[in-house]
Amino acid sequence: MKNYNNGIYLLDAHYLRDNLAAVYMVVEGDSVALVETANAPSLKYVLEALDKLNLTSEAVKYILLTHIHLDHAGGAGSYMAAFPNAKLVVHPKGVRHMIDPSYLEAGVVGVYGQEFVDQVYGKLAPIDADRIISAEDGLIINLNGRELICRDTPGHANHHNIIIDTKTAGIFSGDIFGVVYPELNFKHKRLVFPATTPVNFAPEKMINSIGLIESYAPEYVYLTHFGQVDNIGQIANTLRRIIADYVAIVRESAEAEDVVAEIANRLRQHIVFEAKSLDLPVSEEEVLSLLEMDMQINAQGLAVWSKQINS
Ligand SMILES: [Zn+2]
Repeated sequence: MKNYNNGIYLLDAHYLRDNLAAVYMVVEGDSVALVETANAPSLKYVLEALDKLNLTSEAVKYILLTHIHLDHAGGAGSYMAAFPNAKLVVHPKGVRHMIDPSYLEAGVVGVYGQEFVDQVYGKLAPIDADRIISAEDGLIINLNGRELICRDTPGHANHHNIIIDTKTAGIFSGDIFGVVYPELNFKHKRLVFPATTPVNFAPEKMINSIGLIESYAPEYVYLTHFGQVDNIGQIANTLRRIIADYVAIVRESAEAEDVVAEIANRLRQHIVFEAKSLDLPVSEEEVLSLLEMDMQINAQGLAVWSKQINS
C-alpha cells in the first residue's frame, strides 16, 4: 500500500504481475471510496489495507469503476458482496453488464479460454440493480463531504468515466490518460503510451478526453496502469503526439497481409524509439519484454479501428 497523502492510497492488485493494475482507496474520515476493482482475488489486498487503517468493510460507501474492462471491473461483484454498505458507481453504458456479467464473461472466455478466466478473474458475480448508481456525465458523489465528480471520457472505451477528487484536484484517469509503468518511470523521464485496447478506440475522442483532463489543471493524475503521475501537460502532449503516430501506423499497415502482426511490429519499433529518445536507463530488451502484452493488445485495438475506418 502506498500513501499519497490527503487520504489517497494505491493498492497493487497483483493482477497478472506486480505494478500492472491499481485499486485506489480514497479515505475521508470514517468513509471510504474505492476506485477500480481489478479482479476478484485482489479483494484480499483491499481488506488488508482497511485493516491496517483500522477501518472495517462497513466503511466502504462507494466503489467507482472508470470502465468495465475486466482489469478494472472484474472484481466488482466480489467487492460488492464484501462491502455491504457500498454502492457501485459505473458509466450508464456499463450498468447492465454489472447486473448481468455473462456477456462480459463470454467475451473474455472467447478470447482467452475458460481456464484463464477462472484462474485470473474467478466467478464474475452479478450485482443487484438497486445497489448500482448510473454515473451520468457530471454526477457528483459525496463521500463524507468530499466531492468526487464523474466525467464521461470516451476514446479508450465508450463506457469510460474519469473521477475528479475535488479536495486535491487529482484525477483518477482509468485508461484514458495513457499507461506508465513504475519500471519505466524515472522522475523527469517516463515512457508513456496510450491504451488502444479493443474495441472502442477512437483517436479524436481520446484527444478530446485528454483535453478535458487538462482543463481541470490537475497537479496529479492517478493511472490505473500504474500509479500517480505529475507533469500533466507534458504527458498530454506526448499522448497527442503518439496517438497521431498510431493513426499513421494504422494507415500504413492497412494493406498488410496480417494487419495485427504488422501493427504490433511497428508499435514495438515505435516504443523502442521513444525509450531511446528519452535515453532511459533500461535496455531495449527490458522495454520490449515488459510491454509485449500492451503492444499486442494495442495492435488488436488499432486493427479493429482500422477495419472500422476502412469499411
Ligand atoms: Zn481499459
